This record gives sequence, C-alpha cells and structure tokens, in this order.
Amino acid sequence: MLALVPSGALAHEWLYAPPNADDADSYSQVTTWAQWPECVVGREQSPINIVTAHAAVAPRILDDSIDIKWPIRTVTPKNNKHGFQIHEQSPEHYTGDQEETGLPKGYTILRNERYNFYQANFHTPSENTIDGKSFAMEAHFLHQLDDEEFMTKSSVGTAWPKKKDGQGTLVGSFEHLAVLSVMFELSSMCNPLLDEFWDLFPPDGSKTAYARKSVEVDLSKLIEPLLPGGYYHWDGSLTTPPCTEGVDWNLFKAPLPVCQRQVDTLKSALGRTQKGVTVNNRVVQPIDDRVVTQTSSGTIWRPLAALSFALSVMVVGLVFALFILCRKLHKLQKAGTASPIVWRQRTKKAAADAAETPVKAVNDLSAPTEAAMDLEKNEAALEAEAEAARKKAAAAVAE
Ligand SMILES: [Zn+2]
Repeated sequence: MLALVPSGALAHEWLYAPPNADDADSYSQVTTWAQWPECVVGREQSPINIVTAHAAVAPRILDDSIDIKWPIRTVTPKNNKHGFQIHEQSPEHYTGDQEETGLPKGYTILRNERYNFYQANFHTPSENTIDGKSFAMEAHFLHQLDDEEFMTKSSVGTAWPKKKDGQGTLVGSFEHLAVLSVMFELSSMCNPLLDEFWDLFPPDGSKTAYARKSVEVDLSKLIEPLLPGGYYHWDGSLTTPPCTEGVDWNLFKAPLPVCQRQVDTLKSALGRTQKGVTVNNRVVQPIDDRVVTQTSSGTIWRPLAALSFALSVMVVGLVFALFILCRKLHKLQKAGTASPIVWRQRTKKAAADAAETPVKAVNDLSAPTEAAMDLEKNEAALEAEAEAARKKAAAAVAE
C-alpha cells in the first residue's frame, strides 16, 4: 500500500527482506511486522494471488461501474522510504511545502458510493499476483468513503502530524478505505504518462522526501483506458503496517506498459532507503474464506448501467403484466364469457341442470340460470315475431 507508519524510528524497523536482498522474504516480513498484530493474526490480509478460474462472475444486473473524477492537480512526487508516492493521505490537496491549498483531489464513484481520492503509490514487483503471475509494477490509488466520521477520526497507533488548525489528523482513520489497483507489465515501450513525473521522485528518500519541482498531472488518464476491461474485487487489508483490514480492493484486469528503465528508477531508490533491498512487495497472504469476484465483461459506463437496470425492471414488469393478463383471459374463458356460443350452450345446460336439481342450481349456477331463462324468453319472442311475419306474409298472398 504505502508507508502508513510515521516517519520516526519505527518506520526503519519493518523490512521487506534482509539487507541487499532482491526478493521479498516472508520470514523478514513476519518477524519485523509482528509489532502490528493485524499483520500476523489477520484473516483477510493483502496482497493475494487471484485464481481467475475461481473468481465468481458478478451478476450483470448489478451496477459494477467505476466513475473516476480526479481533477488535474499540481503534485510534488515523494519518496516515502518504502516507495514512490503521489499526494498525501488526506482529502485535501497539499503542495511540496506541505501547505494545504484547499483544493479537493477528486473522488471515485465506486459501485454507487463516493470515495475521496487520497494518494497513489507504486510497488515493484506487483504485490497481488494473477494466476501466480507477478507483474513488473503495481500502483495503488487509495480512497476513503466520503464520510466525515472516517475522514477525521484519529487512527490508533499512528502519529501523523496534526493539521495546523488542530482538527483531526492528516491521515484520519483507516476505516472504509478502497483501492483501485493497476498492474504494469514489462514492455519495450516506456509509459509516457509515468514519464510526466517519474524522474522527479527523489532518488534518495533518506535525505529529502519531496521532489524539488512540482508538476501538473492528470492521473485519471492512467486509469480510464482500463475501465472497459473490467476488474477483480475482494476484501483485503493495507499491505504495509498496521495491515488494517476492511479495505475494498479493485484490481483492473488489463495491465499498463512500463519499461525496464522506469522499473529500475524505483528499484534504485528503494535500494538506497531500504539497506539495499530493491523490492517493496509484501508476500501474498492466504485467501482463506474470501471470495474474489470479477466483472463479466468490463465495467460499464455509469449512465448505461442505470439505463440497463431500468430496462431490466421494465422487462420484468412487462412479463408480469402479461402473465396477469393471460391468467385473467384464461379465467374468463373458463367462465364461458369469451365465446357467445359456449356461453349459450353452457347456460342451456345450466338451465336443464337447474330443472333437475334446483337446489344445486341456486347454490352454484344462479347467474347462468337466470341468463339462460332470459335467453329462452328472447328465443320465444323471436319465434313469436317470426310466426307473426309468416301469418302476415300468408295474409298478403291470400289477398
Ligand atoms: Zn501500496
């Protein structure tokens, strides 16, 4: 995730590997992270290995949309001694001298909930793996649910500097965090968007944390091309001490390119601040009972998701209305009202039955019986009219 621990003595005590190692080491991580209990006893820890064949496909009707609203901001790239970082962990925007500017850093609508964007950090190699495959780099875009309670509440076990007005802390709590995660695959092509700020990261964080120069960046340009490819989703934790759980993880399926030069820039800086250790990935953690889900065919544009949901509701409503209509028609047909011929036959039969069993007729078929009697009357009247006409005709012939 990032170095979420204060930059005091403790920050130098947790390690990814023994000095000068080029690979993450589980033993070093367990032993030097043990002072944060959740790192050791937690059951929903990050990172994980995603087995794509086991990743459940979320029902298409669910809104799995991700809508990124990050404005262009001036940033001062930072070396946090365990990696590269853009922005501070706060909803407010800070510049290089750590003056709050009052400008928000934007937000992401994640499955219909608003999360404020805090900061981005970079790891090499990737922390999560996909079907056992490790990538050259992984970037984490850390967010927190847009709720004042979580944003200002002080975190236990941290000692971040107080804001100048003394309200809350710079970091707030670690509750209701969400990460958008991006894999970077080694390519012969360097990533031009990374190059807009990559060389500004201080190569030696032990001397200076912040770049001497600030630059305007549009980080949304990194993520937006990945949205159509979909993502994996699961519950996890921070990948650095204090390993707080309850973090909502979202890893895009499509990777971005990165070249060896860009990876080496990070590796070289890590080696300088981590006693020669050139990696900053926590080893993958057991998945236990967790379920990884995946979008079926990419995230969909949010208004389209709403439209498809509305259409689905309409179709279900229409089918239900048709069902009710069919049932009513069926009932009417059974009662005999759908066809006058059937009605007439039924009423005649009812009249006959009524004659035989008058009590039953009163109980069960009184309405058809009365109707049958009306019909009989009508028939008699018609026959009388016909007889009258015949007589009239005969009289006419006689004259
Ligand atoms: Zn990270």
